[in-house]
Amino acid sequence: LAGQMMTQALTITSIMEFADRVFPEVEIVSFTAENPLHRYTLADAFRRSRQLANALAAAGVQTGDRIATLAWNDYRHFELYYAVPCSGAVCHTINPRLFPEQIDYIINHAEDKLLFTDPAFLPLLEQSKSTLPTLTKIVVLTNAANMPQTSLSNIEDYESFIADHADHFDWPDIDENTASGLCYTSGTTGNPKGVLYSHRSCVLHSYAAALPDTMNLSSKDVILPIVPMFHVNAWSIPYCAAMVGAKIVFPGAKMGDGETLQRLINSEQVTISAGVPTIWLALLNYLRESGKKISSLKRIVVGGAACPLSIIEEFQEKHDVYTHQSWGMTETSPLGVFNTLKSGMDDLPKKELDQIRLKQGRPVFGVDLRIVADDGSIQPWDGESIGEVRIKGNWICSAYYKYEGKASHDEHGYLKTGDVACMDKRGYMRITDRSKDVIKSGGEWISSIELENVAVGHPAILEAAVIGIPDVKWSERPLLIAVKLAGEKIDEKTLLSYLDGKVAKWWIPENVVFVDELPHTATGKVSKKDLRSQFANYITK
Ligand code: ADP
Repeated sequence: LAGQMMTQALTITSIMEFADRVFPEVEIVSFTAENPLHRYTLADAFRRSRQLANALAAAGVQTGDRIATLAWNDYRHFELYYAVPCSGAVCHTINPRLFPEQIDYIINHAEDKLLFTDPAFLPLLEQSKSTLPTLTKIVVLTNAANMPQTSLSNIEDYESFIADHADHFDWPDIDENTASGLCYTSGTTGNPKGVLYSHRSCVLHSYAAALPDTMNLSSKDVILPIVPMFHVNAWSIPYCAAMVGAKIVFPGAKMGDGETLQRLINSEQVTISAGVPTIWLALLNYLRESGKKISSLKRIVVGGAACPLSIIEEFQEKHDVYTHQSWGMTETSPLGVFNTLKSGMDDLPKKELDQIRLKQGRPVFGVDLRIVADDGSIQPWDGESIGEVRIKGNWICSAYYKYEGKASHDEHGYLKTGDVACMDKRGYMRITDRSKDVIKSGGEWISSIELENVAVGHPAILEAAVIGIPDVKWSERPLLIAVKLAGEKIDEKTLLSYLDGKVAKWWIPENVVFVDELPHTATGKVSKKDLRSQFANYITK
């Protein structure tokens, strides 16, 4: 028997039209190259999105065309986030921190038609324009007065591009499965691979991301997405904030700048923010040195890499900010698991609570997750059985864009994530490693993530990474590579004895190498691939 309820397409257009009616007065504040505090409302943003949609149509953009952005988090990028998909085209967000050859590769692979770029990235494009045959035009995200000199042709500033266009636009009816966005993974091995989001996946993901046990987002919140809009749709914040009417504060290019972040949090009364661990380390460092406060901030979401206890504790104890860890990937939109305590857990002893909070979190309704052992068997949720995380759901990618390489899914349709983890009885997932970073010593696994978490807990350590190095007796041993905090003096022996008692004895590395800085990937994570080649010939002392 069929149900008799209506079916309305789950589209980004529906989020926009709803927010335009219900939350027109809600503010969007942005730091841009021209203006450290640009301020307007959702109604202004959507009015300009309609102008932009007319400009796109006039530029010949058609349904399904890929429109690229090379841009930081700000209001013009937000306008593109709506105008492009709601016109029926695909918003292809490109990570400017990729190598120039990778950027060329993905523009060509996606066959992008137009490119919207921040002025700062023009030099990058000047080097490669000759190899980008599909691009018909470049639009620079600025106004005529601030347009830089450039050797590029077919180029215009954004304000002139939209200026003469009407602010009325009849948005097309879009099937909810139409592609809305495209994001390439940074491709630690091989070429980057494209994940093609749909209107439906974005809307469902936004619902899930806003729920009380996830970001708990409401119209009373002010959200600062420090996670870039070129990185998995800024974890969907531009869509779910509009869905609930939360004010958004965009930090522009200032994502790793503690001073600007603190100022924005205070002046705009930010209540929630989200980003990778590296930016939280930068903010905490700045707060420590300056003695400044972030008193409006209530909670932060940390994802993209494991969150050490030191971040959780310093935010809690010094700033009364609650840290939620979360796990996901480009392929999962990215929400997979999110760490919120269940009822009754607040009263657990601190040690036990810490162990739970260090886990990545529990699955959110809408994703189906399992841990699969090397022999293909499904592991029990017992807190110790380890295997690969496999995931299925409405916002999990089913294939890569125009890709015929190695299969990324198993025979049951689950995405093989390449992450190694275990689930506990309560349903919390603990990632121990990425499969390619796994350290196997004397036949047993050592979790590099756990060792790193403990090492950065030492007050003299800023950042730490653990890689496996070859060993005659044990086949592999861990090597700890660490960066000291400025002005701190700590030696190998002290750091190793600090680990003693906090991890299994046989996990403790023989050596520590202190370096000035660690290599990072384009998404701000420590690049273990680079470390492995840097220390390929390291011999244990
Ligand atoms: P890239 O592969 O370009 O770095 P992603 O952002 O898609 O891009 O990376 C996803 C990966 O990041 C996951 O597969 C996982 O290895 C890692 N990751 C994400 N969140 C966490 C977390 N909370 N703890 C540990 N690892 C994480």
